[in-house]
Amino acid sequence: MSNALHIPHTRLADDAPVTCSTCAACCCQLEVMLITDTGVPGRFIDSDEWGAEVMRRLDDGWCAALDRDTMRCTIYEVRPLICREFEMGAPECLEERRGLDTIYR
Ligand code: SF4
Ligand code: SF4
Repeated sequence: MSNALHIPHTRLADDAPVTCSTCAACCCQLEVMLITDTGVPGRFIDSDEWGAEVMRRLDDGWCAALDRDTMRCTIYEVRPLICREFEMGAPECLEERRGLDTIYR
């Protein structure tokens, strides 16, 4: 995705370990539906075309709650259920990492 170029990154080595600490928060570009109330602040909430609540995303494609400098979630304690259940190293994670093919630093 060309929008990914707004955030500095380097290419992921083929044998790089799968870890969130060096990942460009690839999964934080996905649409996140709010299916339970975990206390997400209203300024981070948007609604999709069907009126369902989702995490707001900025023009660069990443979630509005992501700190662009650290690439960490700023609302970790109250993050949505879907974010809690997205497992590092799971097939979905690996797919997102392949899609971006980069790490943050
Ligand atoms: S769960 Fe996977 S895709 Fe998401 S930040 Fe961690 S390593 Fe990256
Ligand atoms: S709420 Fe946090 S963990 Fe979930 S997509 Fe946004 S920045 Fe990522």
